[in-house]
Amino acid sequence: MPQNQPIRDYFDASEASAGMNNPGAKAVAADVVDMVIVGGGCAGLSLAREIYKQGFQGTVTVLEPRHHYEDDRSWCFWAGDDHPLIGLVCHSWPQWLFGLAAQPASPCSSAGFAYRYIRSSDFYANSVALIEASPNTTLLTGHRLTSLSQDGVGWCLGVQDDGTGASHTLHAKHVIDTRPPAEAQRSRSKLFQCFMGIEIELAFDQWDDQQAELMTDMRLVDGEFCFTYILPLSARVALVEVTYFARHRVSPSDIQRELDDVLSRRGWSSARHIRRESGALPMGMPLNETPSHAGLVQAGMGGGALRASSGYGFLRIQRWAAICAQRLVLGHGPCGHAEPSRMLYEMDHLFLDVLVRQPTLGPDLFRRLFGQLKPSRLVRFMTDRPSGIDLMALVACLPKTPFLQALRRRLMKGRP
Ligand SMILES: Cc1cc2nc3c(=O)[nH]c(=O)nc-3n(C[C@H](O)[C@H](O)[C@H](O)COP(=O)(O)OP(=O)(O)OC[C@H]3O[C@@H](n4cnc5c(N)ncnc54)[C@H](O)[C@@H]3O)c2cc1C
Repeated sequence: MPQNQPIRDYFDASEASAGMNNPGAKAVAADVVDMVIVGGGCAGLSLAREIYKQGFQGTVTVLEPRHHYEDDRSWCFWAGDDHPLIGLVCHSWPQWLFGLAAQPASPCSSAGFAYRYIRSSDFYANSVALIEASPNTTLLTGHRLTSLSQDGVGWCLGVQDDGTGASHTLHAKHVIDTRPPAEAQRSRSKLFQCFMGIEIELAFDQWDDQQAELMTDMRLVDGEFCFTYILPLSARVALVEVTYFARHRVSPSDIQRELDDVLSRRGWSSARHIRRESGALPMGMPLNETPSHAGLVQAGMGGGALRASSGYGFLRIQRWAAICAQRLVLGHGPCGHAEPSRMLYEMDHLFLDVLVRQPTLGPDLFRRLFGQLKPSRLVRFMTDRPSGIDLMALVACLPKTPFLQALRRRLMKGRP
């Protein structure tokens, strides 16, 4: 990082260079490096950003199969104005709405917090620019990991260049594996958060861009809990999504039908389509049980970054990246994601267990959470920072019988 330049300024979105899809000058990595980051997605790039920001002196190669980054996801989270990535936030909503189907939505807000949105394309561009500026880090786009084994001093990585088909070998002391979880692991999730969104532009003013529809139209579709999520970016442009918390992966055609239905009911069917995004996030996915090896760390979604009960992972990934980089700078090995507190883990899984067994309760459970819990408590809960009183207030607003039944089943079966 240039001397005397404040980190905040340097990390501002305006710094993102046009080199997003062309890492250029450092296209060839050394064969022996201190660390390889497998996967240049959210977790991989977040760590690359942090080691640069914190001044890690080791050599690092990031492997990413994509040749080009696209605006493929919207990362949202609750944060104050002082969040380190505030410069990348493209929109903030001080109010968020929730509501049951066919009922008016209710607004919530919490002083000092807003729901924030970072466009993945801005994050990717800014991260690529930072890696470009880093003397020690190389991003190899169009390259994927094909094999991983231990050698005398560390790790031996088989790498394929997807452009030419050529293979080569990298050697590294540390490997951070941020590849998405394998199907065998993913399929053991309790629920799947299946969603599809479309950014649209209307020919007329429609939205108040200070209010995000976080969970509205809460309903059951084919027996699964479903809701609408709308992020207005201006009076005429918004991301409109349909989300399911379902016991199986909902087919893209079914989600599309539901999304079309929402657009039609709201009178937005003729809107101009700007871009799309979709996903099927694992909720309550068990962690890999393979034994840990020195110098190899799994991170990101496959390493347990996603919050079981919400599917949010962006803030957790940022926290992990900062801690992991700090360890590396101090000469220690890398670390994985910190385990959530036992209480939060149990509450999340209890919540999922209730939803798995009785999805019909979904709309009422979320109505209670948004409607009865003070927004500041809900925000602390959603951002992994609830106090004991927040947790007690949360328990107090939920129906007792299904949770006691789920707790009994959990105690009888043992975790998870
Ligand atoms: C559409 C969408 C919207 C989301 N919105 C939010 C949100 O609003 N808030 C929130 O908190 N969370 C959100 N999430 C959840 C979570 O934050 C993201 O999924 C996040 O991208 C997870 O980061 P990751 O690094 O684990 O995975 P990814 O970002 O998917 O990165 C994994 C990387 O590994 C690479 N890879 C795959 N195979 C190989 C290989 N063989 N060799 C090398 N690299 C490989 C991939 O190309 C990819 O770049 C969203 C997820 C999706 C899909």
